[in-house]
Amino acid sequence: MSAYAEFYRRSIEERDAFWDEQARLIDWHTPPQQICDYNNPPFAKWFVGGTTNLCHNAVDRHVAARGDQPALIAISTETEAERSYSFAELHTEVQRMAAVLQHLGVKKGDRVLIYMPMIAEAAFAMLACARIGALHSVVFGGFASGSLASRIEDAEPVLVVSADAGSRGGKVVPYKPLLDEAIELSRHKPQAVLLVNRGLAAMHLHAGRDHDWAALREQHLAAQVPCEWVDSTHPSYTLYTSGTTGKPKGVQRDTGGYAVALAASMRHIFDAQAGQTFFATSDIGWVVGHSYIVYGPLIAGMATIMYEGLPIRPDAGIWWSIVEKYRVTHMFSAPTAVRVLKKQDPAYLAKYNVKSLKALWLAGEPLDEPTAQWISSALQVPIIDNYWQTETGWPILTLANGVEKQSARFGSPGKAMYGYQVKLIDEATGEELTGANQKGVVAIEGPLPPGCMQTVWRDDARFVNTYWKSVPGRLIYSTFDWGIRDADGYHFILGRTDDVINVAGHRLGTREIEESIASHPNVAEVAVVGVADSLKGQVAMAFAVAKDASGLTDDAARLKLEGEVMKLVNAQLGAVARPSRVFFVTVLPKTRSGKLLRRALQAVAEKRDPGDLTTMEDPAALQQVRDLVGG
Ligand code: AMP
Repeated sequence: MSAYAEFYRRSIEERDAFWDEQARLIDWHTPPQQICDYNNPPFAKWFVGGTTNLCHNAVDRHVAARGDQPALIAISTETEAERSYSFAELHTEVQRMAAVLQHLGVKKGDRVLIYMPMIAEAAFAMLACARIGALHSVVFGGFASGSLASRIEDAEPVLVVSADAGSRGGKVVPYKPLLDEAIELSRHKPQAVLLVNRGLAAMHLHAGRDHDWAALREQHLAAQVPCEWVDSTHPSYTLYTSGTTGKPKGVQRDTGGYAVALAASMRHIFDAQAGQTFFATSDIGWVVGHSYIVYGPLIAGMATIMYEGLPIRPDAGIWWSIVEKYRVTHMFSAPTAVRVLKKQDPAYLAKYNVKSLKALWLAGEPLDEPTAQWISSALQVPIIDNYWQTETGWPILTLANGVEKQSARFGSPGKAMYGYQVKLIDEATGEELTGANQKGVVAIEGPLPPGCMQTVWRDDARFVNTYWKSVPGRLIYSTFDWGIRDADGYHFILGRTDDVINVAGHRLGTREIEESIASHPNVAEVAVVGVADSLKGQVAMAFAVAKDASGLTDDAARLKLEGEVMKLVNAQLGAVARPSRVFFVTVLPKTRSGKLLRRALQAVAEKRDPGDLTTMEDPAALQQVRDLVGG
């Protein structure tokens, strides 16, 4: 048996002993009494009886041994700002932020919604929440007021932390007006808003509600706020993710299990050591930002780079110049970013010394061969795909190179990670597929390992019904991805089983986009599907039926309405969710019983064969789509 196979076997067959050992990678105030309580499946409780603190593990415990070493390096090529905080400085800043949160009334168990650009204060705010036992709920800065409002309503934060603006490609993107609008739209009103003024956009402060970070920080310069020791099962945060319904789900994570899972992943998956430097190019608004920009590297005593800016500005060498300057050892990005770089002059890469890099990990969407090969030959380091989800918090499938070096297999994110009992399930029969190369739904037998979601925020029933009930008669977690496994245990992911699409590594629910488009006064009905795109993996494409089509006789009128719809989605959900095209049709492809034929629509939009159409009501419906997309 290979070293990894044995490691994996122990994680499943000797589960408690295995995770007991992993639990020693972090500091506990009170050690756990029970490793895993799975008496109430599918709810798993990890490290029961233990008390700990995420901020202590990420910051405080490193101050004595490496207080002067870099912890957080915040680089913005948008504002030309660059600042490195040592562990000692981070410790100080986080306590100031924690004191300000307390001053504004935040207590243990309260939610703090963070709607911020990629600046150091965003990480301070996350860590400060963890420090005092408050839950953060970070909302991606690219989301607009509608998306933000629904998250405020669901999380019911006491406080929102935000900023005057972000910046993208040199263009200022004001946040404050979107936040004001979102609070206006939301039934829940936070009692306070804390604003970091970057001096990018003018802000109107609402008296009594809005507070200036710089002024309050000044009052708490010498603050000493001890870490609140919380139960291992105390929720550390919620992070919203899209699913098949319009309402986003608040993925809720614990404290102890998450800290252990991240510490273990830093060692076994990333083969990382304290003093090294991690550069994840994601955003704190996504799960990668939580696990591998903020918590994971810091828990491991590494420096972490937080980057605001584009990968090609001022030029396509910017990331590699950062790698050279900070001797980055671990880099984590997404295939889309690499595809963007691939379009640029390869000479940019050759300009910098990237020999410090041990590997480049890519995740969030399928990694295609040309992209993998291009970056592999350009960087001359292993390119390691990894597959996971917001729900799991750390990789489900990849290579655990810290346990045993294993070769990557093209097109495969790798093997099941320790702790994950990954199964392939026949969609029709619910039976487990044990043979090689059989296609099934990727499912995980409970208990989910430490670090995975505890539940859906305030909605246990939704957690059970959404994730654990897709196989009749069996309680098993569904990833909603199709997959196969070869004879050697390498898995391949073949796309989603639901209506979720993946645009540039960002997960979006088509229903949410449809609801936004349907709120246009002249839209009667709409279907949004994901369509293959050579740069972004997928793009959203909308097919709408107008209420009054009489004015849509020429291209100019159709383009005008398309523009209006795009503007609407932009304003409600944000540019990430804006469809690439909105086409107007007279009828959508449906079955005789009225069910939308999404897969057929998607196939035609991708110029593929739509398959069996015998149940379709109006065969002309797909012909219209074919004509519009030029198939
Ligand atoms: P998110 O929760 O936003 O991280 O999205 C998770 C989804 O992205 C997964 O369920 C997959 O559909 C997709 N995904 C993530 N990583 C990969 C990967 N390495 N290969 C293929 N698909 C991936």
